[in-house]
Amino acid sequence: MPFPDLANDLHALEAQGLLRSRRILESAQGAHVQIDGQDYLAFGSNDYLGLASHPALIDSACRGAAQYGVGAGASHLIVGHSAAHHQLEQELAAFVQQAAALTFSTGYMANLGIVSALMGRNDLVLADKLNHASLNDAALLSRARFQRYSHFDLKQLEVMLASAKHRRKLVVTDAVFSMDGDIAPVPELLALCERFDASLMLDDAHGFGVLGEHGRGVLEYFGIESPRIIYMATLGKAAGVFGAFVAGSETLIQTVMQRARTYIYTTAFPPLLASALITSLHLMRTDAWRRRHLRELAAYLKQRLNTPSWRLLPSETPIQPLIIGGNREVMAASEALRERGILAPAIRPPTVPKGEARLRISLSAAHSKEDVRRLTEALNELAQEL
Ligand SMILES: *Cc1c(COP(=O)(O)O)cnc(C)c1O
Repeated sequence: MPFPDLANDLHALEAQGLLRSRRILESAQGAHVQIDGQDYLAFGSNDYLGLASHPALIDSACRGAAQYGVGAGASHLIVGHSAAHHQLEQELAAFVQQAAALTFSTGYMANLGIVSALMGRNDLVLADKLNHASLNDAALLSRARFQRYSHFDLKQLEVMLASAKHRRKLVVTDAVFSMDGDIAPVPELLALCERFDASLMLDDAHGFGVLGEHGRGVLEYFGIESPRIIYMATLGKAAGVFGAFVAGSETLIQTVMQRARTYIYTTAFPPLLASALITSLHLMRTDAWRRRHLRELAAYLKQRLNTPSWRLLPSETPIQPLIIGGNREVMAASEALRERGILAPAIRPPTVPKGEARLRISLSAAHSKEDVRRLTEALNELAQEL
């Protein structure tokens, strides 16, 4: 062992009920998955629109492989940027109604790259305390001064902005919070940014494809647009594939392309994924029923669930967290569901605050009403038993 205290650290994690393990999937992602030869009804993925194993996407990926091969073979700025990548960027920009877009291999890399491309030592990054880990890491990597305000606390943010004397100021927020499913007060955040001459970066990982009449995400949901907004979203969740993008003015996108180290110093993602994503974007535009069905499933879940000691957070997104409380309790609930053939992941600290361990129920357009009925019946029983 390289460090003798590694085993102790792992034992300590285990003692706190915080040791994580992986389930090994033997099927495609979907409403029903196979693990260890068993079929499960699954409420754990971010495949909100049910596109991850859609036949049209699989077909496009195969055609993409036939045309471009499997690996991109180089970074975008050398010779790895294919016609499929290029078309995808143009279609993404048009879809979110921005001048230009730039794709990244993952949302994690996009956030590191975007923030560190724009911000430096003399700058200030202000972030919601419940933001995704990648946004915090991004701010640290940028070497800007980094301050966090309490979740949705506009007053505290205002005080921070009012006293700032930095060259550039950036407010960064998840658009939809991944563990709570609540939506950031974007119009109010934007108004503060305008007042104090700051920019606003929105991470719409969970809103893109889901929010808004046409699935254009949080900007469409609120009906806003502003040159101050730096919009990013991921392509491995509702879009069902892999990757991420940032969208905005030509100048913003050029700057990120020239400066983002997670864009420059890495191999382009496989072009076949860009081919699949072009089809995914097409289905997002044409299949409005997927978003309608999701809203109906969320309403049905709220209506059927009867667990007085366990509380569903108020959420109008497909993320429907059920607060259980303790780490061991949430593990027991998740395990009891599993014995009934249902998967709903237990989320524990430090991902969520202490005492707020939860089942993160995530709905997908691939679920049927009957699937949700099965889940609520199991939960209603368990809430009485446990
Ligand atoms: C999932 C997620 C990311 C990371 O995206 P990946 O493509 O999975 O790396 C970034 N931000 C938020 C809010 C996310 O939920």
